[in-house]
Amino acid sequence: MAVGVLALQGSFNEHIAALRRIGVKGVEIRKAEQLENVSSLIIPGGESTTMAKLAELHNLFPALREFVKMGKPVWGTCAGLIFLANKATGQKTGGQELVGGLDCTVHRNFFGSQIQSFEAELPVPELAATEGGPPSFRAVFIRAPAILDVGPDVEVLASVSIQSSKNVDFNSTLQEESAESDSKVIVAVKQGNILATAFHPELTIDSRWHSYFMKMSPTSNEITAASSSSNYYD
Ligand code: GLN
Repeated sequence: MAVGVLALQGSFNEHIAALRRIGVKGVEIRKAEQLENVSSLIIPGGESTTMAKLAELHNLFPALREFVKMGKPVWGTCAGLIFLANKATGQKTGGQELVGGLDCTVHRNFFGSQIQSFEAELPVPELAATEGGPPSFRAVFIRAPAILDVGPDVEVLASVSIQSSKNVDFNSTLQEESAESDSKVIVAVKQGNILATAFHPELTIDSRWHSYFMKMSPTSNEITAASSSSNYYD
């Protein structure tokens, strides 16, 4: 079965091209019933409030939540990570809906706006162990979120040093508050069938995250954290 890529807004074409590079067919998902024909789903980066408005308009939230709960592999990149978080904070959005399922709090635009976008060499031992290649991954952060806290079932795959963003003055109070003593924040996690990255692997030629995602199997246990009532913005 093909991999679905939510195609409401954002970098869905780039994900489909990245999948093609590893010989996998990606199909655009715009309607709830299209989810029945895919074995896994990528929620791309873009602009999460716009994407949420479009998802609401197309009545996609119930089907997306069901897909996550069924244990099928789902990967959120950047805005997709925000969609999958149980809680998002960092900007008033007027109660925008989230899909949820990923037991974490995410901070939108943690590193700043478009002009504070940056690239960083991220050590990702799990990726190197599974996919081979270099021990680190060149990650592209665009108006990127960061993960502030995670629940006990969440595996942290990568963190970035706040200094990597080279914008240490930006939002320094928030960043200092959130940063532990080592000044790093979490930017890639896995929880059962859910993978989430704050950066954009589809914009680089290193296909290892896409290959890694393709190896994820459906989980048999239903995720209980995903529910419409528990997902919200502060
Ligand atoms: N911070 C953006 C948002 O809130 C996401 C940025 C991205 O996906 N590149 O939607």
